[in-house]
Amino acid sequence: MTDLRIAIVGFGKIARDQHVAAIAATPGATLAAVASRNASLQGVPHFSTIEELLQKGPPIDAVSLCTPPQVRRAQAAAALAAGKHVMLEKPPGTGVAELDPLIAMAAGAKRTLFATWHSRHAPAVEPARQWLTDRHIKSVHISWKEDVRVWHPGQGWIWEPGGLGVFDPGINALSILTRILPKPVFVTAAELAFPANCQAPIAANLNLTDISGLPVTAEFDFRQTGPQSWDILADTDQGRLTLSSGGARMAVDGKVLAEGPDEEYRGLYRRFVALAATGASDVDLTPLRLVADAFLLGKRTIVEPFVD
Ligand code: NAP
Repeated sequence: MTDLRIAIVGFGKIARDQHVAAIAATPGATLAAVASRNASLQGVPHFSTIEELLQKGPPIDAVSLCTPPQVRRAQAAAALAAGKHVMLEKPPGTGVAELDPLIAMAAGAKRTLFATWHSRHAPAVEPARQWLTDRHIKSVHISWKEDVRVWHPGQGWIWEPGGLGVFDPGINALSILTRILPKPVFVTAAELAFPANCQAPIAANLNLTDISGLPVTAEFDFRQTGPQSWDILADTDQGRLTLSSGGARMAVDGKVLAEGPDEEYRGLYRRFVALAATGASDVDLTPLRLVADAFLLGKRTIVEPFVD
């Protein structure tokens, strides 16, 4: 079988930090080109835009869209129209309904549309899901607090409409939550704090529940200095499960039961190669729907302006 020839579109932080190495480490995947207005990768054919890539670039089978969410829908549509498989960074869109025509295009063209949730590939997520299967869960709490200046320096798009603000990392927690809980959850209340000069929240508190009334609370905050937290706690009839470091480690009552190295993006590219082999799609919009519902339900407060 020949390699899936992939072009990265939008060569920013995550493309550099994760995608290049993950493609190199994935059997059956090859990095064939980069399309980015200002950035390039030595030794790899470079194009400024996805249009230029599709018209003048080397033969490719797929694109991996690492641009901000506000521009990805049009790029995905162009790539699918050109017969390419498409991998979407998270979040899959700026709204939920914009995915519908892309899903239909992919199905019609028998091409893969893969909406990725990298945090679901963290090493302790599957062990946590399995451990919770046999327990009675009493409550869940998410604490996802990071310093936006450290993790998203200069990323103005995060504060624009569709940029999601603190939900940009927060949706990772929701992608894990919706993977490890046995029943679907929904948002019942939200409080969103918007900086006076921004179109997206810098902090959010959510209440969620499921059909059984499970209490789930989530605290997302971009203003965290000092220790950062990417933790999910679940109190059960058989102890407290702590899923920490973004899903890298799982402990029960303090005893570590699962942990491993960060190979989230290798997991994503293994899945992309497997999906593209048959042209099947994988688009789970559940985490994005929860964020959309938080925006629909959320009480808004205005807080001090954010200056990067
Ligand atoms: P980023 O550093 O801002 O990189 C995105 C790149 O896309 C930019 O460097 C820019 O490259 C290009 N771009 C920006 N605006 C564009 C526009 N209007 N039209 C076309 N291209 C544009 O952002 P990132 O952190 O890599 O995040 C990208 C996506 O990955 C986001 O959805 C984010 O949620 C997701 N993600 C990020 C991380 C992380 O740790 N940073 C982790 C997981 C997932 P050019 O100027 O060269 O075109």
